[in-house]
Amino acid sequence: RRTPLIAGNWKMNLDHLQAIAFVQKLAWNLKDAKHDFSAVEVAVFPPFTDLRSVQTLVSADKLPLAYGAQDLSAQDSGAYTGEISGGFLSQLECQYVLIGHSERRTLHGEDDEQVAAKVKAALKHNLVPIICVGETAADLELHGPSAVPVAQLKAALSGVSNAADIVVAYEPVWAIGSGQAATPEQAEQVAAQLRNVLKDTLGEDVAARTRILYGGSVKGVNIAGYMREPNLDGALVGGASLDIDEFSSIVRFQK
Ligand code: 13P
Repeated sequence: RRTPLIAGNWKMNLDHLQAIAFVQKLAWNLKDAKHDFSAVEVAVFPPFTDLRSVQTLVSADKLPLAYGAQDLSAQDSGAYTGEISGGFLSQLECQYVLIGHSERRTLHGEDDEQVAAKVKAALKHNLVPIICVGETAADLELHGPSAVPVAQLKAALSGVSNAADIVVAYEPVWAIGSGQAATPEQAEQVAAQLRNVLKDTLGEDVAARTRILYGGSVKGVNIAGYMREPNLDGALVGGASLDIDEFSSIVRFQK
């Protein structure tokens, strides 16, 4: 059985001083509530400039939290002003990295080819890529619910043959930050299609092991519905991940 993962994507929020206070409080809060971190894994995705501070805190206090970056470069090093290498992230003991978030795709023009190159870079540097896919409202109307996410996942995995450890996040663009979450049934329908893509590209074993997260207006009040679906294994949370009580209530969902 797959261990659920609740991941908090902070986006461009919380500087490194705020991050230290936040991570400390979050860990205390969950420990106080006797959260079983082996039953539901918790990860945070702070801005790059916070990662060194988060690493120091997590290792000094032996906090049971995972963390990762919100993006990485497809390149290892060199004349790429402003870019961050996967090697730098593994040096900071990041376990995960988000790739192809819809904000990267729409605001920074990332295409499927770049996403695929970043997935390869992540794997090369022993980072678990969290591959983000999702359709816009216009895509939904034109092509139905799963065509675009399925195509994006196929493209992201092109040329990848042995990825033992990846995560997929299905985030319908129309549900992100809108308060208009997909229903659990809608998300499950797409997740089942995404798992079929995993089967076809990486084989039955990897497909059965891979966690598929839902993202888009997840809150404490709606998380349980997703977690009851057979193909959904957690959530990628934006806005609600910035509120410790709200995020904790998502982590501590009851099916
Ligand atoms: P919200 O939870 O704010 O809708 O954001 C979702 C998201 O983009 C997480 O990556």
